[in-house]
Amino acid sequence: MRFYLMLLFVLPVYCIGQKPIGGVSFLKMNQIANDYVRLGLSIGQYDGDFVDAYYGPDSLKPTTPKQAFFPKDSFLRAVDNLKVQLRPYESDATDQVIRKRATWIESQLTAFSRRIKMFSGEQSTFEIQAKELFGVEPPKYSEEHFKSLLRQLEKILPGEGPVVPRFQNLANRFIIPKEKVDTVVKTAIAESKRRTKKYIQLPDSEDFRIEYVTGKPWAGYNWYLGNFRSLIQFNSESTSFVDRMIDVASHEGYPGHHVYNSLLEKNLFKDKGWPEISLYPLYSPQSLIAEGSANYGIEVAFPQQEKIKFIRENLLPLAGLDTAGLTTYFQALVIKGELSNVRTEICRRLLNGKMTDDEAIRWTVDYALLNENDATHSLSFVKKYQSYVINYTYGKDLVKNYIEGQGGSDDHPARRWTLFKILLSNETRPADLIAKARE
Ligand SMILES: [Zn+2]
Repeated sequence: MRFYLMLLFVLPVYCIGQKPIGGVSFLKMNQIANDYVRLGLSIGQYDGDFVDAYYGPDSLKPTTPKQAFFPKDSFLRAVDNLKVQLRPYESDATDQVIRKRATWIESQLTAFSRRIKMFSGEQSTFEIQAKELFGVEPPKYSEEHFKSLLRQLEKILPGEGPVVPRFQNLANRFIIPKEKVDTVVKTAIAESKRRTKKYIQLPDSEDFRIEYVTGKPWAGYNWYLGNFRSLIQFNSESTSFVDRMIDVASHEGYPGHHVYNSLLEKNLFKDKGWPEISLYPLYSPQSLIAEGSANYGIEVAFPQQEKIKFIRENLLPLAGLDTAGLTTYFQALVIKGELSNVRTEICRRLLNGKMTDDEAIRWTVDYALLNENDATHSLSFVKKYQSYVINYTYGKDLVKNYIEGQGGSDDHPARRWTLFKILLSNETRPADLIAKARE
């Protein structure tokens, strides 16, 4: 009898992970985590954007077909119920690991509630979305802030006349011809992988494949398939500036999304048996860490001077492009990077009814320095994903401050990679980054 009882007790843990760790708290936490995953997958039956990745067992997938109507109230009750169960563990002073898992799942569940309401058509302000979906309050920027950055840009750009066309003229020298894009992309990914593997040990079987797509509101996307494999999609309709090739290779691949998901699956799901990590809900604080680390990962893998050197010596010759003006272009890109906070401000104003679509396009062209084509894509991204845009800019700022605040600067690459790997291998909330930066 005792044998059977033990078997029943242990079996679910073995089903999910491979190395169950004893203790009632661990078993209870895994039971709550299983329910969290089941709930997320059930919501995903209705909301096609809810689940970005899932690599857990089939046994947690919904067993009943979806209802005719979205069961908003019962989903919200299920979220509240799980939060009540988590409460004692969030203040568990005796077990730091359980406490961290509980607070992490709790913040993910807050995002579930807001996304359930959004999917039901409930409007909310930008500030409420940012706080509840991603756990942050992004800083405000005035239009004057962006104008002053443009004045700095004006001083370094060649030519005469308005600053935006002058920037576009310079940038247009570095567009990869369509027939060379695939070769350049693969070369950029191979280099970002080589650089990442120098510092981070990846699972032996990790791999990815590339697809080119059209009709999407984003420039690139990583679909994590589980078992350390990714599908990386490139949008052929986005302008292929040479710097974007490295950005996308690092952001979607190495050390960005592909590496982040692989390390979480390896360290937390397979090694520790934590089921909650096998579900990646798109609208959640996890996305701020994912996008912030993927964007910061670009400069971790390619510090500015190394990036310029690699582009000058490898990518531009491959694409048959001249290197003249490259240094000035990269000086301009540093300012363009600071201007990218304008996307947060555009999103805030659009969601709060303070900006029209036409004004949003004008701000995107004038301050984010995107051409008309890419600005239209950018607007359709904000329309679809709403406050998600903060994850790229504010998320990157938070990750950068967190890593560099602990000594992971440009001058200490080994320390930076170590801190980065720890961030990519653990359940970290945006609030944890902010608290650490304040220490
Ligand atoms: Zn991304």
